[in-house]
Amino acid sequence: MSPEIYLDSNATSPVLPAAIAAAADAMGTCYGNPSSSHMTGLRAKALLDTVRQRARRVLGAGNGRVIFNSGATEGIQTAVLSALCAVRDRQAGGETGADLLLYGQTEHKAVPEALAHWNRVLGTGLTLKALPVDGEGRHRLDILRQLAPRAAMICTMAANNETGAITDLAAIDNALRLTASRAFWMVDSVQALGKLPLDLADTRIDYAPFSGHKLYAPKGIGMLYVRDGAPYTPLMAGGGQEGGQRSGTENMSGIAALGAVLAVLEAGQVFRTPAQLHTLRERLVASLRGALPGIVFNTPLATSLPTTLNFSVPGLTGKELLDVFDAASVRVSSGSACSSAKAAPSYVLEAMQLAEWRCSAAVRMSFGPAADDAFIDAACERIDRCGRALRIGGLIPATSRSDSAAVACGAVAEGEGADAELSPSALRRFLIEQPDALLVDVREPWEYEAGKAAMGGREVLSVPLSRLPSRLDGWLEGEARPLVFFCRSGARSLRAVQCVRQAGYQGAWHLAGGLALAGDLVELS
Ligand code: PLP
Repeated sequence: MSPEIYLDSNATSPVLPAAIAAAADAMGTCYGNPSSSHMTGLRAKALLDTVRQRARRVLGAGNGRVIFNSGATEGIQTAVLSALCAVRDRQAGGETGADLLLYGQTEHKAVPEALAHWNRVLGTGLTLKALPVDGEGRHRLDILRQLAPRAAMICTMAANNETGAITDLAAIDNALRLTASRAFWMVDSVQALGKLPLDLADTRIDYAPFSGHKLYAPKGIGMLYVRDGAPYTPLMAGGGQEGGQRSGTENMSGIAALGAVLAVLEAGQVFRTPAQLHTLRERLVASLRGALPGIVFNTPLATSLPTTLNFSVPGLTGKELLDVFDAASVRVSSGSACSSAKAAPSYVLEAMQLAEWRCSAAVRMSFGPAADDAFIDAACERIDRCGRALRIGGLIPATSRSDSAAVACGAVAEGEGADAELSPSALRRFLIEQPDALLVDVREPWEYEAGKAAMGGREVLSVPLSRLPSRLDGWLEGEARPLVFFCRSGARSLRAVQCVRQAGYQGAWHLAGGLALAGDLVELS
């Protein structure tokens, strides 16, 4: 396969080599438990302290706390638990007036879910209310000003993971001060780290969760900033680690890796500045505009993270776009919750009240701040290739294509064709034993063009699933050859096998797991 162009950094990022080295060192050499009083433990403790000091500087934490944990979901729980315990104390002291838990309508699901959970568990009896956003994904400050006096807690993410929309935190800070709101304020800062300046102690923000795996550290490490004086209740009690604020032996390899990333961030040499990132993104925008006629960007570029693009293309579903990018080894993500059959519209784009087709056909492209010119060159070249592939295939609205495929290959029973599966290694043997087998790529023509592949050194025929019935007669005339179908994930090729077998020909197989799992059996040609 051609080298992967990974453009899905808002989902998770690769781990920086320096972070891998730091993690390996923390496991292999500096493996002590920072709570141990011998020298091996002291060395681990020194590492922990160094990383914490670095984190404090990068976040501008002032006298606030920085607590290491497992990631943002845990940080969000801890922040909500802390705030709601304090709210419960206020209620017990006879304070009334705050009856709302206010959260931005486009927050990551972890936020409303945590609010609902802890509100229930603690019996605080507050009402969850979504704070609407405008058409650019920014919080409605007029509504915030109205509701802030009634809010016990307010959650407004720093930047949105789907669209990159940047929150005007200064304006929210201002609104909270002007309304003399006593609400605790959490800002999920996961997507901001490394991309936006942070000076947390200069703000009124009480809690800011972070996640390592969104910025070149491994999964399972994160941190929580807590403003000096903000209430705090530990989520986990136990051995008293993290000064009793988060028990459990520290994830030292994760902390070391995060420390290496923070060191890179602080040194300011490897990560691009926001202005440089804007320039890199502009180049992707130009390529996308050339490749995908009619493309619309779903958030204004000026007010979104310079590493994120969210777009929709008229006449193409998000899944079709994802498929063609994936075929060209460009990893992007659907802007909407996409099941294999049907895309559910994105709740984030719906909150922005964008047209329905934009909400259900959106694609997100995101890269990290370590991206360089060579990476963007390669990405642009691949985007051009996808554009060419789509032109060859014709930009036909998805419904007619998928409908015709469904009609042609529709009436097949669940489970049928399970005995026709070939694993990649079984297919390798099969091709040796059956030299006349016909390999058929059943992806759409533009996916085929973008990811044209030879399989086990053999040539491949492109016949999209929707056109299969029209080719069957020809194949089955005379002495039929064994047929092996493949596609991206194995779903369409399974349907192809089912169609052919239903048509009465049993000499059909398919590559289980598709190209995604085929490894070196496949070469991009
Ligand atoms: N908040 C935002 C904005 C995110 O993008 C994510 C990750 O998807 C999370 C929270 C959850 O982070 P974690 O995976 O560290 O629990």
